[in-house]
Amino acid sequence: MSNSEHTLSIIKPDAVERSLDKEIKNIFLANGFKIVKEKKIQLEKSDAEKFYKVHETKPFYNDLCAYLSSGPIVVMVLEKENAVLANRDLMGATDPNQAEEGTIRKKYGISIDKNSVHGSDSTENAKIEIDFFFKD
Ligand code: ADP
Ligand code: MG
Repeated sequence: MSNSEHTLSIIKPDAVERSLDKEIKNIFLANGFKIVKEKKIQLEKSDAEKFYKVHETKPFYNDLCAYLSSGPIVVMVLEKENAVLANRDLMGATDPNQAEEGTIRKKYGISIDKNSVHGSDSTENAKIEIDFFFKD
């Protein structure tokens, strides 16, 4: 039985700004993900605030939302078996300094805030996040 699943991935402004989007997409493809939807957009700060609402009580919330809306991002729906967990593994830890060798954040992340990629953290949140960006 296949357990094909979807997750939401975002290539964040720090990576798009350094023209790393093609390279990062190729890493997903090389690791068996299919990119089933994709768009390059720039968010309004109010959209970033909605997207990151779960973090609204955190001290870094305002900076986080300002940052995510500071430049173009590439938003993708990725498909793979156990895509949510597989993507979290491939991304690495939130803080690039703590991320394992070979992970996207270890390779490209600049700092805990400019860590190059976002990935859904559960199948439930993946559905919510995919709807947020791709509901017609
Ligand atoms: P992840 O992106 O690994 O799921 P979180 O959901 O905890 O991490 O946090 C969302 C984003 O908020 C992180 O990717 C990072 O950009 C930012 N962030 C998290 N913790 C901090 C922190 N202590 N200081 C600054 N930014 C942070
Ligand atoms: Mg998270």
